[in-house]
Amino acid sequence: MNDDTTTDRNLADDAVPDCNETIRELDIFLDGEISEAQRDAIRSHLDGCMDCLGAFDFHAELKAVIATKCQNDEMPPDLLSRIERCLAIDFDGDGEIG
Ligand SMILES: [Zn+2]
Repeated sequence: MNDDTTTDRNLADDAVPDCNETIRELDIFLDGEISEAQRDAIRSHLDGCMDCLGAFDFHAELKAVIATKCQNDEMPPDLLSRIERCLAIDFDGDGEIG
C-alpha cells in the first residue's frame, strides 16, 4: 500500500516542514518551546511561503495583543477562554485551553 500520498509525520532535522506542519508548530514556535532544528526549518519555510508567513504574523500579533491585555487586566476571563478555544492556543499560560 504505497500508492497513497504518503505524508511523513516525522519532522526530521533537515526536512522543511510543509504548510500544515508549519501552522501546527507556530504556537510552539512563538512560545519558544521548540528545538533549534525545528525553529530553523520553520524559519526557512516562512522565508519562501507567503501563506504561512501571513499566518505567522497574524498569530504573533494576536498573541502579543492578548498578552498585553491579559497583563493589563483588560480582558474578561470568559472572553479569553473563548478566544483560547477558538484558536486552540493557551494564551494565559495556565496549561489549558479555555
Ligand atoms: Zn507554507
